[in-house]
Amino acid sequence: MKTIGLIGGMSWESTVTYYRIINEVVRERLGGLHSARCLLYSVDFHEVEACQRSGDWDAAGRMLADVAARLERGGADCVVICTNTMHKVADAVCAGTRLPLLHIADLTAEELRAAGVSAVGLLGTRYTMEEPFYRSRLEDAGFDVLVPDEADRVLVNDVIFKELCLGVVSDASRRALVEIIEKLSARGAGGVILGCTELGLLVRPEDTSVRLFDTTEIHARRAALYALAEA
Ligand code: GLU
Repeated sequence: MKTIGLIGGMSWESTVTYYRIINEVVRERLGGLHSARCLLYSVDFHEVEACQRSGDWDAAGRMLADVAARLERGGADCVVICTNTMHKVADAVCAGTRLPLLHIADLTAEELRAAGVSAVGLLGTRYTMEEPFYRSRLEDAGFDVLVPDEADRVLVNDVIFKELCLGVVSDASRRALVEIIEKLSARGAGGVILGCTELGLLVRPEDTSVRLFDTTEIHARRAALYALAEA
């Protein structure tokens, strides 16, 4: 089994989910007392978010590249950035290590393709919904990407940073998110990407009839399969 190198803490609320899913998949595949080999470097999210807010993505990239190098020195075989947003600095992270990066958008695109979805809604932070680093990657892979209107993007971004990253899960926000998901579906989305690793803490498949693609589940599961040499 390979050793998974996780760059976590963005936020730690969702890193917990990564750790659980990775171990569940390994136990499901290998049985008994098997668990995943992994190294987790959990950053101080306050520092990362400050870089995001001030637009200092170079500093954020240097920070995560340094973490990737530490994971490599520690014996990891691959790197997993446990957030969608910070894939904005994926190139900088790759420059800091020889290890392969398991890119969250590429793995999500593979799931969408397997599901036969061509037009997809995207929910995430405003960086993920509005900037090209994530959307273009999906568009280049052949998908039509729909994002909510401005007011709804602000709402989703606020729910992420002011609630979910702080451990607050509210019924009112769940209802608001489901309404936004259903609007995307009415505009033609064949599914909606939960493109923020905390969103699955709030919205579950049973909350809506719209097909959800939870990037945390996809990313963590694929990382485990990679470690088991099944993907
Ligand atoms: N975990 C979130 C994501 O998947 C947001 C936190 C961050 O800005 O990294 O984008």
